[in-house]
Amino acid sequence: MYWEKEIETIERRQLEKLQLERLKQSINKASKSLYYGDKFKDKVINAAAIKSIQDIEKIPFTTKDDLRGNWPYGLVATSKDELVRMHSSSGTTGRATVIFHTAGDIAVWTNLVARCMYMTGMRKSDVFQNMMTYGLFTGGLGFHYGAEKIGALVIPASAGNSKRQIQLMIDFATTVVHVIPSYALHLSTVFTELKIDPRRDTKVKIAFIGAEPHTEKMRRKIEEIYGYKAFNSYGLSEMSGPGVAFECPNQNGLHIWEDSFLVEIINPQTLQPVRDGEEGELVMTTLQREGMPILRYRTKDLTRIIPEPCSCGRTHRRIERIKGRTDDMMIIKGVNIYPMQIEKKLMDIEGVGTNFLIVLDREEFNDLMTVKVEVNKKLFSGELKKLEALRKKIAEELKSEILITPKIDLVEPDSIPKGEGKAVRVIDNRKD
Ligand code: ADP
Ligand code: ZN
Repeated sequence: MYWEKEIETIERRQLEKLQLERLKQSINKASKSLYYGDKFKDKVINAAAIKSIQDIEKIPFTTKDDLRGNWPYGLVATSKDELVRMHSSSGTTGRATVIFHTAGDIAVWTNLVARCMYMTGMRKSDVFQNMMTYGLFTGGLGFHYGAEKIGALVIPASAGNSKRQIQLMIDFATTVVHVIPSYALHLSTVFTELKIDPRRDTKVKIAFIGAEPHTEKMRRKIEEIYGYKAFNSYGLSEMSGPGVAFECPNQNGLHIWEDSFLVEIINPQTLQPVRDGEEGELVMTTLQREGMPILRYRTKDLTRIIPEPCSCGRTHRRIERIKGRTDDMMIIKGVNIYPMQIEKKLMDIEGVGTNFLIVLDREEFNDLMTVKVEVNKKLFSGELKKLEALRKKIAEELKSEILITPKIDLVEPDSIPKGEGKAVRVIDNRKD
């Protein structure tokens, strides 16, 4: 049941002791980098000033812009000889950041990914098809190494080429997949096109879905289509990649591995810690990284800590599924809206297909929001009256959630462009 029982079920007091020890080591290591070395030089910030975990508040935050501004080697804390791997972020919100790893870093990361996979029930007898891009993106190699560590048979399929994915799944009797949730939905349309029923014709029983925000409704829809269990996987390149937080069999919040990351939740405006269980921005400090330790990294991801212990026995706290990035927030007619609010409603409406896109325009100082919604094939080629009824229903449902009435464009299945990577949910034409 546990990959490493002792550490996964460690007593909280002991875990905090371990964290304090590792935090001090991390600060010492980080100060060897140009960036932190300079930051710490004339302040009294050093490991000796840290007497308790709370003292972390004495250390300044690190942001994506700090990583960009000290690109590429500014935060490297070892000699370059020690580095064996480089990865980068996807560049969703601007220039991609790069992270460097020592052999030890890769070993720690690999172990965390294995811990996550094992937790969901994956074993060495499984056939694992990794449908994530291999290369600089961490989702490919990160999961690949973790799965090999468990001893599973790995099919490094990489992303895209939907027909081949399905062929591989059938030919080699894949039992576990790793897939971006928006792509899982897209792939289901290819299954339909090929007249293959994923529930009947494949052996997949576990999926890891992550890399982009998605709602509980979307997860249930994916599980329903494929007949497997889909576990939410959260990670970011700055914290190595996947393996940061993951769902256990309870599928109710993601255990965040606190032996490797120190977790804080702050109010993104005041930068002060929020109360236990309140929503805010996730901030993390690496506790084990050698090549490029990062202190108090502002992820911009919004979540909250679930304070109650989990019945699976793991003592590492859970975070709620990520609601989105602070950057994702749209302000329309003075109302704050997140794309996930739209998704949550759409996934519940019968007749809605597998993709949607929000388009924002400005006409004479007025914000206009259009939601393009793919409808399923049957409905699209059916009666106009039914389509009109669906359009009205979507508009009403969305209004109840976001308080404004967007324009709804119903479009053909698969007509919204879908890449292999993270879904683009919003196109904002309001900026010049
Ligand atoms: P980028 O930040 O450029 O997208 P990464 O590939 O490092 O580059 O992606 C990490 C980010 O992806 C996270 O900070 C988060 O916003 C998002 N993400 C990853 N996994 C999840 C998940 N399971 N749920 C929601 N968002 C996720
Ligand atoms: Zn649990």
